[in-house]
Amino acid sequence: MLELIAVTKTYENQPLLRGISFSVAPGETVCLLGASGSGKSTILRIIAGLEDPEAGEVRWKGQSLAGVPTHRRRFGLMFQDYALFPHLSVFDNVAFGLRMRGKERVVNLGNQLPRRRAQDQENSPPAGSGTDLLQHQVLAALSLVKMQHFAHRRVTELSGGEQQRVALARALAPQPRLLMLDEPLGALDRALKETLLDELRHILRQTGIPAIYVTHDQEEAFAIADRILLLRDGEIVQAGTPPEVFTSPASGWVATFLGLGNVVEGQVHTGLVETSFGRFSIKTNRPPGERVSLLIRPQAEISDSGEIIGRVTDVLFRGEGFRVELENGWYFFLAAAPRVGEVVRLKARVECLPSL
Ligand code: ADP
Ligand code: MG
Repeated sequence: MLELIAVTKTYENQPLLRGISFSVAPGETVCLLGASGSGKSTILRIIAGLEDPEAGEVRWKGQSLAGVPTHRRRFGLMFQDYALFPHLSVFDNVAFGLRMRGKERVVNLGNQLPRRRAQDQENSPPAGSGTDLLQHQVLAALSLVKMQHFAHRRVTELSGGEQQRVALARALAPQPRLLMLDEPLGALDRALKETLLDELRHILRQTGIPAIYVTHDQEEAFAIADRILLLRDGEIVQAGTPPEVFTSPASGWVATFLGLGNVVEGQVHTGLVETSFGRFSIKTNRPPGERVSLLIRPQAEISDSGEIIGRVTDVLFRGEGFRVELENGWYFFLAAAPRVGEVVRLKARVECLPSL
């Protein structure tokens, strides 16, 4: 549906986006994951038409959006600082977006429809006058986020999570063709984030609205995305479903950024990789001499045949097991707790990745 083709952008002679290409399929939630300053918000602004790309193109269903103004794109946006109007009620906050962008549409619809008697209108609220339509759309959006009973509250009387739901309802009310969420849960605590992510996933599935979710938090990305796009230095360095990205990180940098385990630089020799923490026997078809990254997965077990030997410096109870740290800084998850100070021999999966 949405397609970006080789989009580039430069600020003050610094390339920020160096050829961004991706597409969003019907009903799909794509997550743009990247560090702060990597250009995520700029990509959304370009898609929204708030900024123009220097080169490249944004298309919707195959048609270029160049020159199409923001309000005609019918894309919904929700930003981190959700900027609800404190002096307006929940209802009026949600209605605001509809009044702004829907004016034309509601009025036109009103003109085209034959006049009805008051009684008919009561029986069919959705397609009635502009006011009825507005009311219906606002309440439908509020009930999607389970806030219909708060319609007449002031937004200042709501908790952070409730305000976030209202902001989402405001973005959903005009029935956008695409929803863009820019770090929408940034300011909230972890437990609330998880709840809202669950709700959001449910709403996106229920409405079928394709979405682009922007975050710097890999846990959020794994929790919401059908597909993750990993942004680094103005390029997408990896794209895939959460399991694909988790099992096959494209490089040592990706593995580090996603926190998939212990990453160490090394050099390929025949049948092994030499690192500053010792040698690891590993099969790789990379040529001897090449610099690589080793990803040492944290899921491990104590074993006499293990290649990782180290003194335990920290043991943390983690419910389903223990997080154990060694003196070289590596961490592992073990079923049983060793003692701090003990030297352990561990067996873990070691993967050889491009050292990018
Ligand atoms: P992200 O959302 O990933 O944190 P942004 O897209 O907001 O990244 O911006 C990345 C960088 O691009 C910023 O740190 C800033 O240096 C630069 N930038 C963004 N917008 C502008 C602008 N309008 N003028 C100049 N520089 C900008
Ligand atoms: Mg941003």
